[in-house]
Amino acid sequence: MVAAEGFPSSREGVLFDCQSCGACCSYSAEWPRFSTEDDEQLDRIPQKYVAANQSGMRCEGVRCSALSGEVGKHTACGIYELRPDVCHACMPGGDDCLMARKAHGLPV
Ligand code: SF4
Ligand code: SF4
Repeated sequence: MVAAEGFPSSREGVLFDCQSCGACCSYSAEWPRFSTEDDEQLDRIPQKYVAANQSGMRCEGVRCSALSGEVGKHTACGIYELRPDVCHACMPGGDDCLMARKAHGLPV
């Protein structure tokens, strides 16, 4: 989930508005893993959202525990400013985004 409020992008007429999507945040428990973050960055993420083994975000099934709302309708990241690097890197309309949206039956 990359787009900040009021910053949707589009491709071939399809609107990629993260706040009415959330598909990449509810795609795989392997998705919101920590990677290039430094300790200071990780320490700021509330522990209630962090996996027990500290490897990434805690997920409930395939859904990141920091995601609120209903996928494909209205969603929000509870730690938007602190979200992991992989979440920054998922660009609306990019390959990862399209894969996640397809899995949820959302237009691509
Ligand atoms: S799947 Fe794409 S449009 Fe949906 S929240 Fe993720 S980056 Fe945004
Ligand atoms: S931390 Fe936020 S942006 Fe990243 S997967 Fe979880 S809800 Fe989505």
